[in-house]
Amino acid sequence: MSDINYGVLYVVATPIGNLGDISQRALDTLKMVDVIAAEDTRHSAKLLQHFGVSTRLIAYHEYSNEQRLEKIVSLLLSGESVALISDAGTPLISDPGYDLVNVARERGILVQSVPGSCALVAALSISGLPCNQFVFEGFLPAKSSSRCQAFTPLLDESRTVVFYESPHRIVDSLKDLSAVLGGQREIVLARELTKTYETVLSGSVEALLQQIQDDTNQQRGEFVLLVKGVDKIALEKGVVSSEAKALMAILLEYTPVKTASAIAAKVTGIKKRDLYQWALANPKNS
Ligand code: SAM
Repeated sequence: MSDINYGVLYVVATPIGNLGDISQRALDTLKMVDVIAAEDTRHSAKLLQHFGVSTRLIAYHEYSNEQRLEKIVSLLLSGESVALISDAGTPLISDPGYDLVNVARERGILVQSVPGSCALVAALSISGLPCNQFVFEGFLPAKSSSRCQAFTPLLDESRTVVFYESPHRIVDSLKDLSAVLGGQREIVLARELTKTYETVLSGSVEALLQQIQDDTNQQRGEFVLLVKGVDKIALEKGVVSSEAKALMAILLEYTPVKTASAIAAKVTGIKKRDLYQWALANPKNS
């Protein structure tokens, strides 16, 4: 139960590009609250000015210390209402705000959502990939070895997996994805959503890598990377997926069929016997 004398913490979504995506309720809330806590006050000042919002802004970002958090909490405890916003989209989704929301709730402060844009939801909804179940992994690691580690569980993942990625790493990330899952895994690259150069490319990792290397404009802007899940029913029926074949082909360069099948079985979840039989039936790989 929240104390009726406390202020309310509103978590307010702002546009991810197109300013027309701000909601009426978001604008009403931003005008009505006593304080807006923003990830980058200079960035948000422009947005607020555009919409004629003159509410007091304070900074609350990734590097904000305990004191800053306590200051916002004490404002709320003294009855002032606060809106939390980030540079774009929904706060807390790969953006600051978790500590504040967590502490506010622990102290009995009412936290309310003013929902709106979110790049991962926007990308999923137009990707053509299954959305009934999905996994959001946030930003991919910057180091190639860590990225490959992050991709390995996808060999056996049947749900759509969604990542955020920055433009300067997109080519390297797709190369790593191809190395781990094989070039044939289906992906979608959703770029610059709601903005002038919005592009949604879909196809195999191999094809999209080629496409964005041929047209470097396709490497600019903000990206959501979506990876299609594996077909679990095919897995159960003993079908050796293209990803498993790619892994087997690599392993067979270094180890005998038996060892390669055992390792690939552990990684992909496909039965060792099915992998072994596939290798024997495809001797150019063994
Ligand atoms: N809180 C935001 C949200 O609700 O989506 C995400 C913030 S995170 C710091 C920024 C990342 O989100 C970008 O690097 C990109 O991966 C993704 N993103 C944000 N805006 C986007 C857009 N317009 N098109 C595609 N991806 C976007």
